[in-house]
Amino acid sequence: MARRVHLAVDVGATWTRLAVAVDEVFVKKVVVRTPREGGRLAVAEEVARTFEKEFKEYRERVEAIGIGTIGPLDMRRGVVVNTPNLPLGTFELKKPLEDFFNRPVYVVNDAVAGVLAEKYYGEGVGYNNLVYVTISTGVGGGVIVDGRVILGKDGNAHEIGHIVVKYDSDLRCGCGGYGHWEAYAGGANIPRLAKYVAERNPSISKVSVIGERALNGSLEPREVFKAAKRGDPLGRLIVDEIVKANAAGLASVINAYDPEFVSIGGSVFLYNTDLLYQPVVEIVKKNIVVRPPVIVPTKLGDDVVLYGALALAVYRPV
Ligand SMILES: [Zn+2]
Repeated sequence: MARRVHLAVDVGATWTRLAVAVDEVFVKKVVVRTPREGGRLAVAEEVARTFEKEFKEYRERVEAIGIGTIGPLDMRRGVVVNTPNLPLGTFELKKPLEDFFNRPVYVVNDAVAGVLAEKYYGEGVGYNNLVYVTISTGVGGGVIVDGRVILGKDGNAHEIGHIVVKYDSDLRCGCGGYGHWEAYAGGANIPRLAKYVAERNPSISKVSVIGERALNGSLEPREVFKAAKRGDPLGRLIVDEIVKANAAGLASVINAYDPEFVSIGGSVFLYNTDLLYQPVVEIVKKNIVVRPPVIVPTKLGDDVVLYGALALAVYRPV
């Protein structure tokens, strides 16, 4: 029997991953840097070039291509529009890659890919109401309700990272809004959060070894979590804010969508599950009105978007 071949692509802010699957099993994966310049076709050209170099023998056998990408997205046209995560801004994926492969190309945002990954290949198999949350450079989500993927007019529904978790906050989000979940918990914003917390707690900053770096805004997320694990008072205070913001955001999402199953991924979360998983779940439980869902850290790790892209290419659920 002929074996089915698909290409899955994960376009991230720093890395782009390509993987070929034979009968839904990845047989080869390649990681390249996502181009930061070169215009609207730069990312598609990098994908095509990498495929030619690394996967040429599959060229005639690829049936379809699934892509999970950083957003925001014009999903039907397969164009990433004005992304704040790359200096490229706007870039095209669907059209140039359909021209290159002469096969259908399906594009969703990476958090939507995440929820598809859980439903088709993760612990979410068998559920019809699922949420995937990524806590990484930014915060995002993918949602399936009654078996249907929620998309919105352009494929950007569930921009849950911009849920207001603190309505009277002065902490500004990358999007320009205030008090957003991502402003507190997204890796890119943690240095700014550290400064914000340090300025408001001068006596604690003074006795903390990370106090000075926090105040000048140069404290990396990794250092914040490390300090908290050591018991540093400022580190603990900052992580406490991150925990509360994650709990507020997650509780809001659960109250809004009534999922049976919630999976959490993203590098900031997965590297710090000891600080961010149980403490967040405990607060969430006190703040939801719906029957509690199963809440788990994703087991798909770094490959979660690739698995979602594969599900997209194989099952075309959207
Ligand atoms: Zn925002």
